[in-house]
Amino acid sequence: MSPFEVNEEGYFGRYGGAYVPEILQPCVKALRDNYRAIIDSEDFRREYDALLRDYVGRPSPLYRSEALSALHGCTVYLKREDLNHTGAHKINNAIGQILLARRLGKSRIVAETGAGQHGVATATVCALMKMPCVVYMGATDVARQRPNVEKMRLLGAEVVPVESGNKTLKDACNEAIRDWCCHPEDTYYLIGSTMGPHPYPDLVARMQSVISREIRQQLQEKEGRPTPDYLVACIGGGSNAAGTVFHFLDDADVKIVLAEAGGEGANTPRTAATLAIGSEGVLHGSRSLVIQDEDGQVIEPYSISAGLDYPGIGPLHAHLVRSGRARSLAVTDTEALRAAYELNRLDGILPALESAHALGALHRLKFQPSDVVVLTLSGRGDKDIDTYLAHAHDFD
Ligand SMILES: *Cc1c(COP(=O)(O)O)cnc(C)c1O
Repeated sequence: MSPFEVNEEGYFGRYGGAYVPEILQPCVKALRDNYRAIIDSEDFRREYDALLRDYVGRPSPLYRSEALSALHGCTVYLKREDLNHTGAHKINNAIGQILLARRLGKSRIVAETGAGQHGVATATVCALMKMPCVVYMGATDVARQRPNVEKMRLLGAEVVPVESGNKTLKDACNEAIRDWCCHPEDTYYLIGSTMGPHPYPDLVARMQSVISREIRQQLQEKEGRPTPDYLVACIGGGSNAAGTVFHFLDDADVKIVLAEAGGEGANTPRTAATLAIGSEGVLHGSRSLVIQDEDGQVIEPYSISAGLDYPGIGPLHAHLVRSGRARSLAVTDTEALRAAYELNRLDGILPALESAHALGALHRLKFQPSDVVVLTLSGRGDKDIDTYLAHAHDFD
């Protein structure tokens, strides 16, 4: 077995597990006992693959950026998840999980969202599958991601603003879990990232693994070999990164770089750099790294990017970084913004603020001319246009 695969008890190394209240244990057990058989079944694969192709628009292109290649002195490819239906990688997972929810006999969907991308993806697949949908979203994020809130409501979802904590993703997760506890019989919790109790981290990684399956094929066609020298992805909970690395974990030559949200700097209180400053703890159903004080109280995170503004990290990624398989970099707001304007000017692609952290990480790395770098552009920047306009004069 690969050292990076989840074990029988739901752990990646020392991270993972399923820490849930008693009321949810039957739900989590039913999911755990059935998910692999369902998602590996021919019937599921057929429906999932057809929707990824015809509804999402996959395979997403692997685009060789001449401008970034020249800038960084190597070959840089962008894996264009920004071109997916609804504008990010989140739809890959939402489609997979709603097909799973139907096969588990569930009739109602709840979800959490930060930037709103997962909420939009979930509301979209609920419209497609005619299932009622409740999305919990921190009130701060409701304010800073308005267009996504309007989209969810137009799709027929109920968006519930969450007023607890600092009113962001962590607080939305708490509310979604609370709702699930109240309706364990009929409700499926459609989680948006590689976090939560086992088997969610593994399930979501598998739903996103289509990204690395395509990268291998596309690199084989374009470079004559299936593996790059570097894989670079941004990381909030870790789903686009998990999808990017999934089929490369046992290729030891492929270097993995995870760009987390440094905020105003990992050494300041205004940060969401969990891999840099987190310590071991349990958050939202799994044991992983958490930004917390000595008493185990979660410290409110900060990032300019709503999708990365989270004080935890998926257990797979904690394991990858702590075991030395992957390296993490805390990319600041300023570095991310600069990289976003740069890509927009150089390539005519406005990335999501989250993805801009991965682009910012490129500037911290030293490449050889022969290096092939694949960077996952997790989403498009339309939702962040107000932030980009507000800061544009800083980077003229
Ligand atoms: C949600 C989101 C992220 C962060 O989530 P991961 O699960 O870490 O991928 C990154 N980029 C975009 C565009 C997002 O919408």
